[in-house]
Amino acid sequence: MTEMAAPFNPAAGVDVGKRELRGRKMKRPRVVIVGGGFGGIHAARSLKSLPVDVTVIDRRNHHTFQPLLYQVALAVLSPADIARPIRTILRNQENAEVLMDEVVRIDPLKHQVVLGSGAIVQYDYLVLAPGATHSYFGHDEWAPLAPGLKTVEDATEIRRRVLLAFELAERQKVEHGWHPPLNFVVIGGGPTGVELAGAISDIAQLYMKRDFRHIDPRKSRVLLLDGSPRILTAYPDDLSTKAAATLEHLGVEVHTNTRVTGVGPGWVQVEAAGSSYRMESAVTLWAAGVQASPLGKMLGVPLDHRGCVIVDDKLNPPGLKEVFVIGDLAHFEQDGKQVPGVAQPAMQMGDHIAKLVSADLARHTRPVFRYFDKGDMATIGRMDAIANVKWPFKAHLSGFFAWLTWAVVHIFFLIGFRNRAAVMSNWIWTYFTFTRGARLITGDQRLPGWQERVQAGSGAKAAD
Ligand SMILES: Cc1cc2nc3c(=O)[nH]c(=O)nc-3n(C[C@H](O)[C@H](O)[C@H](O)COP(=O)(O)OP(=O)(O)OC[C@H]3O[C@@H](n4cnc5c(N)ncnc54)[C@H](O)[C@@H]3O)c2cc1C
Repeated sequence: MTEMAAPFNPAAGVDVGKRELRGRKMKRPRVVIVGGGFGGIHAARSLKSLPVDVTVIDRRNHHTFQPLLYQVALAVLSPADIARPIRTILRNQENAEVLMDEVVRIDPLKHQVVLGSGAIVQYDYLVLAPGATHSYFGHDEWAPLAPGLKTVEDATEIRRRVLLAFELAERQKVEHGWHPPLNFVVIGGGPTGVELAGAISDIAQLYMKRDFRHIDPRKSRVLLLDGSPRILTAYPDDLSTKAAATLEHLGVEVHTNTRVTGVGPGWVQVEAAGSSYRMESAVTLWAAGVQASPLGKMLGVPLDHRGCVIVDDKLNPPGLKEVFVIGDLAHFEQDGKQVPGVAQPAMQMGDHIAKLVSADLARHTRPVFRYFDKGDMATIGRMDAIANVKWPFKAHLSGFFAWLTWAVVHIFFLIGFRNRAAVMSNWIWTYFTFTRGARLITGDQRLPGWQERVQAGSGAKAAD
């Protein structure tokens, strides 16, 4: 579908301020932004008052607030609570237009992006913010068996599988008096894995317990697997230890130093403490690996091991002064360390785009980008979290107060008042009534491996 573009010749140089804008009616630079995620939206908004024309291209019509995707996956929120049309976000920005299409090729030499529809969009500046996707470490065949969480579609698929597992177990129990064990296996102990495992445990222990007559959802098992010696390796030791203790208190079985070597329908093969064994799994979820968008490769510039584009302190890849790479696709180092692929850097890089472009327009030197790290947080179940706060004070927080901080920050950053109000009211409803509003199963009514496990019959049978 795509082909590699010839690398840009840095010797030719680019002076956007002077370059003639051929074939264009308006003599204003056109800034093409690929991706309407955190980086892209911030970049577009930052350019609002500059004399430029902005084109935002995204293959989806909506911006997704990814940090709350797990709440859609576990039926607390509905997709529309955490997503908003990009067109609506930018409707009051007169210099911005939105195209819904997939970028399939970039030609840095000709300053063009090619869309799936075949259209060619010419740019004076290109802001590349297409984010990242799951990496199955060379085992893409595991993807349909263990979905990851990145998009609204992923979240509704996970919701379907988790809710369906309880339904199938109830039906099987009614018909045959037993059901295969309800094991939920989450692979990867980073923030997404921890959030998913905590939320599945919540749904099984608290929210489902009164809804079934024949099975006891509280007897389900939630297993969190990670190959490292501890979970949440990006967090300080004390917070990681607290998170593991909280998860165990919620009933999640945390298996560290446990490497997944195979994923099949209804099972996960692992290696731990020198032995290899197979775990039964009703639902397997993938939260282990991330790889950069393939668009980075098309620039013909150096990439890191995950495919991220190595950028300098003006967010340019080597030799491409009119191309800015931001967000999860950017490999940006500050003080000898790589800035993490999370929302804050993406937003700050996006905001910095206007400073770079306006410096060009004024023929000033471009200002360097510096990431201002305010800290990280992750939730663990219903009202618990950990927070490594770095601004406005430094602190390691855990428990309810950390959760409250997390909730305020996430509500604050949700794009659009309607989404904020909807999320807030859903949270209040959920937490005080112990019910979940978005428990819909749509689509296929089968789970990978369930039927085989039922037919095998002789495996471990869950006791209800
Ligand atoms: C489940 C989950 C939970 C997270 N939780 C947190 C958290 O709690 N805190 C935190 O700070 N960070 C969190 N993150 C990370 C954070 O969401 C990302 O770092 C951030 O979204 C990166 O922004 P971005 O603009 O680079 O990419 P994205 O926000 O991923 O946006 C990329 C956009 O580009 C579009 N796109 C991609 N390829 C193409 C193409 N070829 N053509 C057209 N459009 C394209 C996509 O549709 C998408 O809209 C989480 C991520 C996930 C997946």
